[in-house]
Amino acid sequence: MANANVMDKIVSLAKRRGYVFQSSEIYGGLGSVWDYGPLGVELKRNLKERWWRSMIYERDDIEGVDAAILMHPKVWEASGHVAGFTDPLVDCKQCKNRFRADDPRIKGTPGEPDAQCPTCGTKGNLTAPRMFNLMFKTFMGPVEEQAAVVYLRPETAQGIYVNYLNVLQSSRQKVPFGIAQIGKAFRNEITPGNFTFRTREFEQMEMQFFVKPGDDERWFEEWRAARMQWHVDLGITAAKLRFHQHTADELAHYAKAAFDIEYEFPFGWHEFEGIHNRTDFDLGRHQQHSGKKLDYLDPATNERFVPYIIETSLGADRLALVALVDAYHEEEVEGEPRVVLRFHPAIAPIKAGVFPLVKKDGMPEVATRIAADLRREMPVFYDDGGSIGRRYRRQDEAGTPFGVTVDGQTLEDQTVTVRDRDTLQQTRVGVDKLRTFLRERLGW
Ligand code: ATP
Repeated sequence: MANANVMDKIVSLAKRRGYVFQSSEIYGGLGSVWDYGPLGVELKRNLKERWWRSMIYERDDIEGVDAAILMHPKVWEASGHVAGFTDPLVDCKQCKNRFRADDPRIKGTPGEPDAQCPTCGTKGNLTAPRMFNLMFKTFMGPVEEQAAVVYLRPETAQGIYVNYLNVLQSSRQKVPFGIAQIGKAFRNEITPGNFTFRTREFEQMEMQFFVKPGDDERWFEEWRAARMQWHVDLGITAAKLRFHQHTADELAHYAKAAFDIEYEFPFGWHEFEGIHNRTDFDLGRHQQHSGKKLDYLDPATNERFVPYIIETSLGADRLALVALVDAYHEEEVEGEPRVVLRFHPAIAPIKAGVFPLVKKDGMPEVATRIAADLRREMPVFYDDGGSIGRRYRRQDEAGTPFGVTVDGQTLEDQTVTVRDRDTLQQTRVGVDKLRTFLRERLGW
């Protein structure tokens, strides 16, 4: 499979089957903003729920929050985003396109007569680089003036830092402990693209773990290993996962150490989660800018310190793209091509297709009853249209792990066949045992 081709096929499948649609498509779309359709929303919810469960419910040292998108503008001064979250950009005066100043396609020096526009090819029309802030700005209240400027948050992390004391005091946690959050973030990206990989509105799943200085390196290693294992347990192909360690040049101003978890997309290896040792930078800055003390009194030793923070930052949309790309397979079954999404059953949008073999002899009635019974516990899809082979294929393409078929034998002995999406094996299961049978295989 040629790589560019694969991505095109995935984008087209995503639209055809209701995973992802372009935002405002009937108006020609909005650049790098995407909507999730009926199957996509389930996939993303399942991923978010799995992450939340592993962070909040399966541990006793992490609490959840849901902070507002709009925050006091001083937050972004303290975080460094007002001053530092900028990219140098150049404009072409001829074709009005805008590029990052370090775009490798630009020949010559922007601002000088020799500089050539990568789009229209004219020379001498590129402006000198200008700084451009990636935060979306808006105004709070009725007057659009400088004093009323607020930003759409470009990361969820700050909502955790400013609530650190509130959570500490209300939850009775002790350092080391973590705070996790899932929420929207916005960045006015200049080079978006590659489908949902880099978008201007996206969702992050971030966990900030507060530790005693000196314990930070141990916790950093622990979280680095745990986060990689989480993706492997999700069934993502291990050979397509790797770490990338940030070099001194790449390290953000606040970070002591950083590793990206990268996935091998059809368009190359790219980050989808970051693990960062942010030191005491964040709480230190908020302490300075807010004038509120954010240090911690260790009850065991009576020591006071500003905790270090180990951050794990995962994009929900990027993870959904990893899951989609990794699940996509084209293969031949009994001499016929099939497209199948091999999702881990726990994240598959629909858990089982329910089919009467034929539309007579009472089979649809039995199958409808079975579907209704399963629906109390999991999303299922009832389908009685077309040949059974075609119905299986439709569910393969949607990533549904199990196909339950009611046939002639069902009417005699109350058993159905359960077809496994990946092995294609069919097992006969008693109708009364079906829910348990499926539940055991869903890996929830
Ligand atoms: P990139 O260099 O790819 O833009 P980044 O290094 O700026 O990412 P972080 O600020 O560390 O990313 O954000 C953490 C995670 O949030 C990323 O690993 C990614 O999954 C997600 N993310 C960041 N920016 C975007 C975006 N524009 N669209 C979708 N997901 C994003």
